[in-house]
Amino acid sequence: MNLILFGAQGSGKGTQSQLLAEHLRLKPCSSGDLLREAIGQGTSLGQEAKPYVERGDLVPDDLIVGLILEQMRDLGDRTGIILDGFPRTIPQAQRLDASVTVLRQRIDAAIYLEVPRQVLLDRLAYRYVCEKAGHVWNLKTHPPRVDRICDFDGSPLIQRSDDTEAKIAHRLDIFFNETIRLIDYYAARGKLVHINGNNAPETVNQHILAALGQLGVLEGAGHPHAQASGQ
Ligand code: AMP
Repeated sequence: MNLILFGAQGSGKGTQSQLLAEHLRLKPCSSGDLLREAIGQGTSLGQEAKPYVERGDLVPDDLIVGLILEQMRDLGDRTGIILDGFPRTIPQAQRLDASVTVLRQRIDAAIYLEVPRQVLLDRLAYRYVCEKAGHVWNLKTHPPRVDRICDFDGSPLIQRSDDTEAKIAHRLDIFFNETIRLIDYYAARGKLVHINGNNAPETVNQHILAALGQLGVLEGAGHPHAQASGQ
């Protein structure tokens, strides 16, 4: 099973991706994380992507599409993938559809996490990530035990360089002007799962699983209780 997760910055994609990946035994794949990793390692792709990511602009399709397909070709022991942050435009969605056909795979569902813009702004203003592994915290709603220190690995928490007020506004504009069009794209293909993301993470997760069950994509999925979780 292959799933797409889309939603604005701060809508909880990362959290839901991890929960679904565990529950359904899928490989979690975040386009933003892949790009930050390439930038951190200083690869040629990373160097090309860096100015775009730092401005909060979308990187050129050729850079990101190749990176994602590489991940799809190597699933390890997982039965599918959950794409978090890709596609972000209609051309990217079209290229993904063309590529999955070549790979003899398919996209089963595209999950949209809807959260009001004001809630996103509040969440992002308090979003911190750990320096070592990028574990995500929110100083207001999901703080670590020790102030600004990651519970998991003890590394200091920092704000992402693209989480400044101006860059957040710019990235949200791109989402609401461009990425939002994916709603119609996937609805037209009968693959859209539209979820209210303005709830506790566990509730959102249950709603996603229930909706996937209704769409009929959970049959034979990794976890024996996958279909049992409902609203
Ligand atoms: P994110 O962590 O998802 O907010 O992504 C961080 C940054 O990576 C974005 O602001 C873009 O610069 C870049 N990026 C991530 N995914 C994509 C994508 N699908 N297409 C183009 N750029 C992307």
